[in-house]
Amino acid sequence: FLPHLIASLQQVDQTYIMVKPDGVQRGLVGEIISRFEKKGFKLTGLKLFQCSKELAEGAGACQKENLHRRAHNGRGAKLYFARVNLEKDSNVDSIEHYKDLKQKSFFPKLIDYITSGPVVCMAWEGVGVVASARKLIGATDPLQAEPGTIRGDLAVQTGRNVVHGSDSPENGKREIALWFKEGELCEWTPVQAPWLRE
Ligand code: UDP
Ligand code: MG
Repeated sequence: FLPHLIASLQQVDQTYIMVKPDGVQRGLVGEIISRFEKKGFKLTGLKLFQCSKELAEGAGACQKENLHRRAHNGRGAKLYFARVNLEKDSNVDSIEHYKDLKQKSFFPKLIDYITSGPVVCMAWEGVGVVASARKLIGATDPLQAEPGTIRGDLAVQTGRNVVHGSDSPENGKREIALWFKEGELCEWTPVQAPWLRE
């Protein structure tokens, strides 16, 4: 029982952290990355990325339309269909990312915000990383976030709160799979590992 409990307490989790477009525009990328680096978590994925809004909103409808066109319009439609698939492969659906918030009144503005410029996508790994990253990030409303947290130190408004962090280990895995393609994550052992954990 006890070894099992210890093993489960020490489970290594993954979280998806993202510097939102306002964080990138305001030059806060380095500052935000360094908070997680200094804490001692392991970076396993990192990229600058523009999430396309057109695609996020239109992917489903567009594909249906293309299937329809292919049925009626042979060769040209086939080419168009191929192009859409190519775009879909290299873009992320921001609506899928925030699917739990689809019914909220602020959802359209949230999608505008998150697709308004490049974001920095990160995967971080460690024991307890999901909950700890949420603490480092601070409350959703930056005015309620404690000083010392990223939002508490660097932001003033919920709609411009500079950073995203997964809210559960399950969502951590789901969001990393959504924003990163196969081959974009790295398995590695930081030299500091033995100095972080007994
Ligand atoms: N958001 C907003 N207005 C609200 C609540 C949330 O604009 O009233 C935005 C905000 O950018 C937030 C994101 O939607 O970070 C996702 O909301 P969630 O409740 O998941 O907050 P988080 O997990 O980011 O703290
Ligand atoms: Mg959330």
